[in-house]
Amino acid sequence: MNITYDELGPSYILNVYNPKNNLRAFVVVDNIARGVAIGGTRMASDVTVEEVFGLARAMTLKNAMADLKHGGAKSGIVADPRIGNKEELIRTFARAIKCINDHYLPGPDMGTDETCMAWIKSEGTESVGLPKEIGGLPLDEMGSTAYGLICAYMIMSEYRSYIDHDTVVIQGYGNVGRKTAEMLSEQGLKIIAVADSTGGIYKKDGLDLDELNEVKDKHGTVTKYPYSVPIKHDKLLTIECDVLVLAARPNAITMHNVADVKAKMILQGANLPIAPEVEAVLEEKGLLNMPDFVANAGGVITAAVEYAGGSEDDAYRKIRKTIKNNVIEVMNRSTSENITTRKAAMKIAKEKVISAMKYV
Ligand code: NAD
Repeated sequence: MNITYDELGPSYILNVYNPKNNLRAFVVVDNIARGVAIGGTRMASDVTVEEVFGLARAMTLKNAMADLKHGGAKSGIVADPRIGNKEELIRTFARAIKCINDHYLPGPDMGTDETCMAWIKSEGTESVGLPKEIGGLPLDEMGSTAYGLICAYMIMSEYRSYIDHDTVVIQGYGNVGRKTAEMLSEQGLKIIAVADSTGGIYKKDGLDLDELNEVKDKHGTVTKYPYSVPIKHDKLLTIECDVLVLAARPNAITMHNVADVKAKMILQGANLPIAPEVEAVLEEKGLLNMPDFVANAGGVITAAVEYAGGSEDDAYRKIRKTIKNNVIEVMNRSTSENITTRKAAMKIAKEKVISAMKYV
């Protein structure tokens, strides 16, 4: 196992195995100084404990940065989420982790959803990201992550002198990308290109989102939108635009394509869409950037509000206040210490965790 232990954690790793149904799973509890940890349960046949540790640490920093009274953890179930006995595996997992429920609250992640969280809760293990009918806040329907990105965009825009006629390119037209497109469009911005896993489309004068959404819902792809030109995945990232939204996968921008990126601002909806050393190159070019764990925290903020018994309005209010304050703090720290926004954000988040660790 290739895990580096440092001043934050991980606290412990719970391995779960049940020979009856071949459940193999693990929970990495990274740091709980700020309170019971929130972090998703990833179900994938190739999920590894190292990957889950990386995600658990990201949750420690994201939750602290967002000032949530929660630590960071994550779990992995080693199975294909399309298999027939998914419910049985999830329920077995729920019973197995009940003993650490004071330390860990599972939530949805790749391969799991709100129904899985309801199964976990019905086994007597608390979880977040529940269906509306049993007290959950529907974060995808609410567009929580997209809303947080818009809040980040508003503040970041104040650090440069454009507002009118902004053009937007979106990589990833799923839950996060689509809602972000809609919300930016409501702010008067023009969405000129989008891509999903099947390919991309470009239209200089702007895409009509109502028509695009109809096409996407009907055909399951954006590429069938008729009034546009096709664009390859790699070319989409190099279109000249004001705002580039990354809402698909890790490592979208790398050392290979960083020189060709012509956007003026990047909104990181995805987790780790740009490695830190590549972000440094972009910021050196003068591009405005905000690390993923600062800008895309809207989802986990909503989960924390749900756990505390709050409403949708409470969640929006908290997202707005938290992300606006954090973007300002990160921009100021980055400028005053002449470091990248990621280094600034890491310092701020780590300080919050370490100061909480004095009391436990
Ligand atoms: P999703 O599966 O709904 O959407 C992902 C989209 O990316 C899909 O449209 C898919 O077709 C597209 N895609 C895949 N590969 C692509 C490629 N090479 N080029 C262009 N598009 C591609 O997922 P989501 O919930 O929207 O999450 C997107 C990212 O944001 C993930 O990395 C996720 O971890 C992260 N994230 C999501 C949330 C949330 O609230 N859902 C919160 C924080 C972070």
